[in-house]
Amino acid sequence: MDATDGVIDWQIGRSLAETNLHMFEKGLGTDIVLKMGEKAQQLPCHKFILASRSPVFYTMFYGGLPETGSEVIIPDIEYDIMVDFLRYLYNGGKTEIMPNNVMGLMYTAKKYGVQTLTDECRVFLQNEINSSNVCTVMEQAHLFDERKLWENCLTTIFSNAFDVLRNEDHDFHNLCADCMKKIVENDRLNVPEDLIFIACKSWAEEKCGSMNIDINDANLREILGGILFAIRFPFMNEMLFTEMVSHGDILTQEEKLSVYQQFNHSPRDGGPNISEKTKFCSKPRVSAPSYRAERFKEVVGGTLFDFWENDNMIDAISFKASRDISLVGITILSPFQNGIIRGSLSIYDETNICLASRKHLEILQATNDKMVDINFPKPVAISESCWYTVTQQMSGGRSYFGTDGQKEVKGEGVVFRFRNSPMYANNTNVESGQIYALLYK
Ligand SMILES: [Zn+2]
Repeated sequence: MDATDGVIDWQIGRSLAETNLHMFEKGLGTDIVLKMGEKAQQLPCHKFILASRSPVFYTMFYGGLPETGSEVIIPDIEYDIMVDFLRYLYNGGKTEIMPNNVMGLMYTAKKYGVQTLTDECRVFLQNEINSSNVCTVMEQAHLFDERKLWENCLTTIFSNAFDVLRNEDHDFHNLCADCMKKIVENDRLNVPEDLIFIACKSWAEEKCGSMNIDINDANLREILGGILFAIRFPFMNEMLFTEMVSHGDILTQEEKLSVYQQFNHSPRDGGPNISEKTKFCSKPRVSAPSYRAERFKEVVGGTLFDFWENDNMIDAISFKASRDISLVGITILSPFQNGIIRGSLSIYDETNICLASRKHLEILQATNDKMVDINFPKPVAISESCWYTVTQQMSGGRSYFGTDGQKEVKGEGVVFRFRNSPMYANNTNVESGQIYALLYK
């Protein structure tokens, strides 16, 4: 067998890139051996090709103090990664970038100054980001000082904050303290504060584990450091704060007291007197835009014969969402004829526990609109595949009402299913009635 491993006409009709790659893959005429990874696996190749594509290799082989030995030891890059990298160099910029080699390739491309491959890896990562891997990618972007990619990860996290912080595989455990703090302190992280606290605690517990130290409140506080003060405890539900935070020692007595003082006495508008009282940020996070799932195709009423009577009876509808969402509020239908309606709006879970309410509402006839958005005091966490019931109980004037209702409504990445609620007493059902739309994030 000849040196070409039985392929006699490998140059004929082939491009420069193809013949280069053939010489590399068959180890023909090589003049340098790279020793890769911890095991120093041998990878024979050609100085000329390496130097022609990488400024670092050029300096190494042909610079002022050239490497004259027959081997180069590269302990920090694994053999398989270097093979993929060299394919890129030999093959005129073609190699298969995959989830399992992209980080190694990016590291190698940066180390050897191959900008085009760095760019390709960045684009690949950008396209691969989703809510279950975004923190891993963000941490790599941090490591490689890829600012743009890092910013994109941050945006992805804020758009999918619920999913990221409740990720079953705890992808956010992969974040370093700096990245974690940048996320938690940002106004755009708009999920309930108790969820942020749970995620931060879980993150710190994992760090305790990897550092082999006890998981106790003192250590968690130490590891959380500045992250702890980025959690906006004053905006946490007071009952949850009592249950989850006040019984432990993650916060000092003084800090807990200051949070309770804010719950009970201070306006939550970020006034100057508040920040003096506590170390915790007292500025509300920015609300992301909410979406509207409208369950009726038509709104009617406004005549002597066409109206909805509000007589302090309960109008109710049940719904289920295909993924976890935050229910921000409800769009209800307005009164007409210079009317005014008064009452309340509530949401219940499957066991009829009231999750949130707006009481003492007073709705005036809107000038041009037949409906009005009413937000709950805080967004309500809605778990996928559980049924919830929204009720309104109004008295006063007559309202518009919806017709041509739908059992299923497609929203932004979520499908809502509606069914009649056993709580109804005022005839609202899937087909017609009140509770025009759900407002959600
Ligand atoms: Zn980081």
